[in-house]
Amino acid sequence: MGFKSKARKHQEMRGETTDKKNRRSKKEGELSCGIKSCDGWADKSMGGRSISRIDAQDVFGSGSFSEIKNRVKVCKSCYRLYKKETKDDKEY
Ligand SMILES: [Zn+2]
Repeated sequence: MGFKSKARKHQEMRGETTDKKNRRSKKEGELSCGIKSCDGWADKSMGGRSISRIDAQDVFGSGSFSEIKNRVKVCKSCYRLYKKETKDDKEY
C-alpha cells in the first residue's frame, strides 16, 4: 500500500522545518528593531515597542532608523534608551 511512502514524505517535511529552526540557536523574533545600528527584535513578545518617528528622530537621530507609517518599531533596549531620553527632556 502507499502508506510507507506517505509517512516518509511527512518525515521529510518535518525535518526541513526543524532544520531551519535549528540553524540559529539565538532567540529570534519576526520584527527586527527599526534602529539601523541595532540587531535586536521589536516583537511585542520580546518587549518591543512602537514609538513615533518624531520621538525616534529626537533620540536616535534622523536617518538612523526605518519607519513604517510614521511609527518606528524598536526593541526592548532601544525603547529603554528612548524612555530615558524623553523622560529627561520632559522633566527639564
Ligand atoms: Zn533596538
